[in-house]
Amino acid sequence: MSSFQQSIASVRQCVYCGKSVPSNHPHCPHCREVVPKVRLAPAPTAVKGGQIRRGFLYMLLGLVIHFVALRSDSLNLPFSVNPTVTYLATMLFLGGLGLALYGFVSKVTA
Ligand SMILES: [Zn+2]
Repeated sequence: MSSFQQSIASVRQCVYCGKSVPSNHPHCPHCREVVPKVRLAPAPTAVKGGQIRRGFLYMLLGLVIHFVALRSDSLNLPFSVNPTVTYLATMLFLGGLGLALYGFVSKVTA
């Protein structure tokens, strides 16, 4: 590491007054504002297998909603369930299945 890179690493610029601040100081010595820490590393990426897990959770949610919508008469619910909820739950299940399959295929081909 060159001395120029070391000076960049040890000194940063205050976002309020523009003067240089040592990187180990949480406050600017000139204007006394809190200098936020800047993270130069890339943002954490999505967890591996996240799409597969999310797809299975959507499928499970679709199944639960479909079950409740079909058994709403025998479950003595205090509200009536619209019949379109059954179709929407089926669409949620199929969407979750598609997401899980996409995650599986992208995991296999990667
Ligand atoms: Zn400052």
